[in-house]
Amino acid sequence: FRERKLIVHIIPFENRRQILVTHDATETERIEEMRRDFIANASHELRTPLTVIVGFLEIAAQEGLDAATRAAHLKLMTEQGHRMQHLIEDMLTLSRLESVDYPMRPDPVDVHQLMEQVARDARALSAGKHEITLTVDGPNVMGSYEELHSAFGNLASNAVRYTPAGGKIHLVWKEHEGGVKFKVEDTGIGISPEHISRLTERFYRVDKSRSRETQGTGLGLAIVKHVLLRHSGTLQIKSEAGKGSAFIVCLPKTAVVQQQPELLLH
Ligand code: ADP
Repeated sequence: FRERKLIVHIIPFENRRQILVTHDATETERIEEMRRDFIANASHELRTPLTVIVGFLEIAAQEGLDAATRAAHLKLMTEQGHRMQHLIEDMLTLSRLESVDYPMRPDPVDVHQLMEQVARDARALSAGKHEITLTVDGPNVMGSYEELHSAFGNLASNAVRYTPAGGKIHLVWKEHEGGVKFKVEDTGIGISPEHISRLTERFYRVDKSRSRETQGTGLGLAIVKHVLLRHSGTLQIKSEAGKGSAFIVCLPKTAVVQQQPELLLH
C-alpha cells in the first residue's frame, strides 16, 4: 500500500481558507519512477556488453596478438554485439506495444501455422537438448499474428532456457471456456512463489547471472504482458522451484480491445 500524495493549495476565499486539491501526484510519481528505473536498467544492460566490446577493441589495437587469440576475441565481441541487438529489438517491441499510435489490428490468426512456428523456433534454440512436444486442438482466434508469435515465442524460449538438458517441454493449444488456452509446461528449474507476481516487470529476474548466461534480455515477460493486454488475455503462472513451470495464457476467440485492460496474474 502506498501513501497517496496530493497536490493541495490553500487559498483564502471570502475570509475563509479553502483547500483546493489540484491533482493526485501519486500516479504521476509512480510513472515517473518507473520511467527512471527503466532508463537506468536499460543503460546498465547496454553498457555491460559495450564495455566488453570496447575492451577487446583496445586490446586488438595493440600489436602482436596471435591469430587464435584474435579469433577468440572477435567471437566474444560478436556475441556481445548480438546481445545488444537483441536488447534493443526487445525495447523497440515493448515501446511499440505500449504506443497508442500503434493499435492492435485483429486479423484471423492461423493457429496451426503459429504453433508450428513457435515449436520450430523452440527446437532450434534447444538444439536437441530437450524433448519438445506440441498439441494443437483448438480453434483459430482473431488477433495479431506477429504479436502472438512474439508472446508465445518468448514463453517457449524461456521454457528452453530455464530447463536443463534432458528436460521436457510441452506446448498446448486448446479450446477453453468459450475461448482458447495456450500452455507451455516445462520440467525446468521452476520459480519460488515470492517471485511470481513480479516476473512481468521489466528487467525483473530471479537470478541475474543465469538469465545473462542464457541470453535473456529481461524483457520477455514484459512483452508477453503487453501483448496479452492488447488481446484481452490473461496469464497464469504455476511453478515449483526445482520441479518446473507452467505458463498458461487464456484468450477470447475475438480480441476485444479493452478501455482499461487488466492482467490477471495468479
Ligand atoms: P529473461 O530474459 O531474464 O528470461 P523474462 O522477462 O523472459 O526475462 O523472464 C523473467 C524471469 O522469469 C527470468 O529471468 C527467470 O528468472 C524467470 N523465468 C521465466 N520463465 C521461466 C521458466 N520457464 N522457468 C523458470 N524461470 C523462468
